[in-house]
Amino acid sequence: MKKMVTLFMIMVLATFTAKAALAGDTLANAKKKGVLVGGVKDSTPPFGYVDEKTRKLIGYDVDVLAVIAKRMGVALELKPVVSSTRMPMLQEGNIDIIAATMTKNADRAKVIDFSNTYFMTYQRFLIKKGTVKSLKDLAGKRIGTAKGSTSEQNVKKAIPTATVLSFDDYPQAFLALQQGKVQAVTTDDHILLGLKSKALRKDQFEVTDLYIADEPYGLGMRKGDKKFVEFVNKTLLEMEKNGEAARIFDKWFGPKSDFHQKRNFKITSDK
Ligand code: GLU
Repeated sequence: MKKMVTLFMIMVLATFTAKAALAGDTLANAKKKGVLVGGVKDSTPPFGYVDEKTRKLIGYDVDVLAVIAKRMGVALELKPVVSSTRMPMLQEGNIDIIAATMTKNADRAKVIDFSNTYFMTYQRFLIKKGTVKSLKDLAGKRIGTAKGSTSEQNVKKAIPTATVLSFDDYPQAFLALQQGKVQAVTTDDHILLGLKSKALRKDQFEVTDLYIADEPYGLGMRKGDKKFVEFVNKTLLEMEKNGEAARIFDKWFGPKSDFHQKRNFKITSDK
């Protein structure tokens, strides 16, 4: 019995030590390894998706991470995540940072730490043109979104009579809309515009003005990874100051992009 107890204690201690190592100093660890591992979306244009020509992951979130890795003097390795896997992958140490269209909110901040807000967007609906004029038109209807997203939670509250179908990622929800299996897809409007821009018959669809939530994005880091969070925040503020953040925005949302959007935010310190 005594032996069992000791063994159990050793196991508990080992788990704690492993967790402590993970929650430790990502800034120092990544510098030691020479690589920062970022979790990004791979099917959410223009934030994170696969370039048809090069097969590489590209997008707004990828560019933001590239600046951070460069400032750290390390290589950037990218791993694809979806909404429901990004937090577990970070906590398990599979990735060092999340840059994946992720809204900062109080619930998530209990589990991970967030950077300053680096992007601002709003939850809306992608529909077949002219089919939805008010939220009432969606009452009792089927709406597609992604598992583990704030979009899923918000829409259930905003339209309690709707049937919410949660897919792994947004292109699957959009396919369901194209096939007539759902009446709308709901998530952040910049994601919806990105989905629409890649559709074959984009003129058949529209993103509504109807709006149900503010969605400020933060980069996600392990809880208590203080030096890394400070470094990332400092870098984001520098990027705002030296115009790099605006240049990245312009590349993906400016007049030469698939859809021109105004930059309606500035990166500031949250505290
Ligand atoms: N920004 C929302 C979220 O963090 C929706 C987009 C996404 O699923 O990544 O859940």
